[in-house]
Amino acid sequence: MLNLVIFGPPGCGKGTQSARIAKKYGLMHLSSGDLLRTEIEKGSKLGMQVNHYIERGLLVPDGIILRKVYKNAIGLINSAGIIFDGFPRTLIQAVMLDRFLKKKSIKLNMVIHMLVDRGELFRRLTGRAEDSGRVDDTEQIFRVRMRVYEKQTHCLKEYYSDQKKILQVSGMAPVEDVSAKIAHAIDHYREKNEVFSNVI
Ligand code: AMP
Repeated sequence: MLNLVIFGPPGCGKGTQSARIAKKYGLMHLSSGDLLRTEIEKGSKLGMQVNHYIERGLLVPDGIILRKVYKNAIGLINSAGIIFDGFPRTLIQAVMLDRFLKKKSIKLNMVIHMLVDRGELFRRLTGRAEDSGRVDDTEQIFRVRMRVYEKQTHCLKEYYSDQKKILQVSGMAPVEDVSAKIAHAIDHYREKNEVFSNVI
């Protein structure tokens, strides 16, 4: 299996890149945000529970997200691999994911950290707001999501750096160029079993 995590600030392009990587390497794309939005669309009990957090730009409590992600990940264990998009987002989630994977004798191979300037994130988000239809794609909520990212998620960089798994990717270039850089790093990893230590 090839198991990856991708994280970065709101609007960094993790969803787009995850879909492209999943297609190229035949991986299952597990987006925690998409799972939650589906529940909201269905009007399920879980959807109603999480809507309150999403529309405010806040993180859904760890317990809720862990249950939902585990439930979906279990069915994907016999696949070519999983790309976890938007999960983990807190240190607790990262520790719990490690435990979950260890129990299943599965390795997390690489963690892709997307780097994009704040100004560019804001430009993209305001552009995307018109067609995404997402309730959290507004200027005000964007600012909340940025703060939440900095306070609760950015620390994952250190956590996975210590595990020598972090791949830092500049997400400023056009989509295709960013995908090509990530693919190059994945191919290098598969060949040499090492993650590039420099920003690519
Ligand atoms: P995303 O589609 O990844 O931008 O996620 C949209 C929203 O879903 C986030 O702003 C959070 O409210 C919620 N969410 C998604 N993934 C997680 C997670 N791993 N932990 C907590 N909340 C999450």
